[in-house]
Amino acid sequence: MDPIRIAIVGIGKIARDQHVPAIRGNGAFSLAATVSPHDAGLDGVPHLPSLDALLAQGPAVDAIALCTPPQVRHDLAAQALAKGIHLFLEKPPGATLCEVAALEAQARKVDVTLFAAWHSRFAAGVAPARAWLAERRIDRVSIVWREDVRVWHPGQAWIWQPGGLGVFDPGINALSIATHILPRPFFLKDATLVLPENRAAPIAADMMFRDTAGAPIHMDLDWRQTGPQSWDIIVETDAGTLKLSHGGAVLHLPSETVHGEDVEYAGLYARFAALIRGGRSDVDTTPLALVADAFLRGVRETTQAFHD
Ligand code: NAP
Repeated sequence: MDPIRIAIVGIGKIARDQHVPAIRGNGAFSLAATVSPHDAGLDGVPHLPSLDALLAQGPAVDAIALCTPPQVRHDLAAQALAKGIHLFLEKPPGATLCEVAALEAQARKVDVTLFAAWHSRFAAGVAPARAWLAERRIDRVSIVWREDVRVWHPGQAWIWQPGGLGVFDPGINALSIATHILPRPFFLKDATLVLPENRAAPIAADMMFRDTAGAPIHMDLDWRQTGPQSWDIIVETDAGTLKLSHGGAVLHLPSETVHGEDVEYAGLYARFAALIRGGRSDVDTTPLALVADAFLRGVRETTQAFHD
């Protein structure tokens, strides 16, 4: 079977750190081109300044991984789908829910694969956590996602602009895990969003959810964390406490602790190849809907200005 010729559109931090090695490590794909307006690209790989240029001049591609900021993603995605190109959308799949729904309908109509990727769902501890929780009574959940924005998002202006999600850019990863491992749907009851006076997106958020059986789920997001960073989900159950730490890589169960390797993007590309070969799509917007609900229902507080 011929490899799937794929281009990366948006060759920024995540594309270089994760997509390029994952594509090169998966024989189902060949990296055909990269696209971004201000970057020189990779040695030995054709580089184009825009998607328009790629579609006009080639090289020909079967698939695109869209790794741009979310605010520009819809128009690029719609343009690629119109050419019958399979699409991998980095998280979040768009800047709004309705634009993602429009892409899903377009992909179905032209019969190409659309994959809304949630990389944290592919962390090593997530599948076993989901299996362990499936039969438990959930009593209480605590999500603590506290990191230093200056370390993880230096100089990323888009992340602070409308549609960039602010602290929900990492927080949506926690929600992608929680919506995947908890056995029942949950929804927002209260939220407080804390916005620097000079920014359009929150630097911190405190949220209270309940699942459909009434179990409380508390989420603490903060981008002002220096020193040790926290990416933890703690689930208290009738059979003891489960803790996923390191963003889902390490699973602590009452009986054992399992340390996983970094397998997220290898897992994403294996899934993308399987979806393309099987003629299917995978678009779950639940994590984005929960974030949208926080903006819909949350109380806003202003805090001191943030400077990079
Ligand atoms: P980034 O470093 O700012 O990179 C964004 C890239 O998109 C840049 O190469 C930029 O090109 C390019 N771009 C912007 N507009 C474009 C357009 N119209 N056409 C083509 N390329 C365009 O951002 P990032 O951290 O990689 O994040 C990108 C996405 O991945 C976000 O949705 C983020 O949530 C997600 N993500 C990030 C991480 C992470 O750790 N950083 C992890 C997982 C997922 P120029 O620089 O040339 O202008």
